Amino acid sequence: MDSVRTEHIDELEVAGRKAVANARRVVVKVGSSSLTTPEGRIDSSRIRDLVEVLAARRALGQEVILVSSGAVAAGMTPLGLTRRPRDLASQQAAASVGQGLLLASYTAELAGHGLTAAQVLLTVEDMMRRVQHRNAQRTLRRLLDIGAVPIVNENDTVATHEIRFGDNDRLAALVAHLLRADALVLLSDVDALYDGNPSDPSTSVVDLVRGPGDLDGIDIGGAGKRGVGTGGMVTKVESARIATEAGVQTVLTSAANARAALAGERVGTLFAPAEGRRPSTRQLWLPPPPPP
Ligand code: GLU
Repeated sequence: MDSVRTEHIDELEVAGRKAVANARRVVVKVGSSSLTTPEGRIDSSRIRDLVEVLAARRALGQEVILVSSGAVAAGMTPLGLTRRPRDLASQQAAASVGQGLLLASYTAELAGHGLTAAQVLLTVEDMMRRVQHRNAQRTLRRLLDIGAVPIVNENDTVATHEIRFGDNDRLAALVAHLLRADALVLLSDVDALYDGNPSDPSTSVVDLVRGPGDLDGIDIGGAGKRGVGTGGMVTKVESARIATEAGVQTVLTSAANARAALAGERVGTLFAPAEGRRPSTRQLWLPPPPPP
């Protein structure tokens, strides 16, 4: 579906793609739908493929932080569930069962590449409070210093934002900001942002988003509620907005394009960061000013 693309390449996109490829520190976010089978169970071959891509980036000297959903989905099989539970408490309980299994899977796959996985469970509120914010920042930095691969998820026992709306899209942008990452790559089952319905032949991929103006007239829709994940284009675009305002190059594409996106190839949609100085990591938490 990634074929309808304009031939013209904006200089900003060329520079952005290069910056992603050369990032010193990159946050990769993967949604539940990219880790699961059609029945909604965790697919270990997808975890293996993703870890292989991440290990290759590490071998090039990049620091990699993975923000992974999939805890609820991974908890379904052991609980005998054939579909994602509807009520929040059951989703949280499934996440509690699944998170350990998800981490075990990443730990085993990363170990195959000589890498160590580190579980980091966060909430948005943690990052808004000064002490917790600093602790999270310090721990994550130390993990990177010692060469571990942080695997971040929302702490689903105490927080419900990402289970309900975000599929970790927002959390990933905040982690990218917290760590002053150079790039954020959002992987899901959608290969790019389109300027219309992707099944309509006249619809094109949006190659580059320079700011909110480039999104005028594009129907981003509402948060998705289908299948095993949450989120949807609206939370991805919001995640890209948070990240780019923090100076982070952001690519939105499918998990199948992970290798190409991280290598700076022209896949998915690139959201270019706002120009100028990066805001302090606390500043992000201030709500945007109300419209005039
Ligand atoms: N923390 C949740 C999980 O890992 C968020 C994503 C979701 O709702 O599927 O499962």
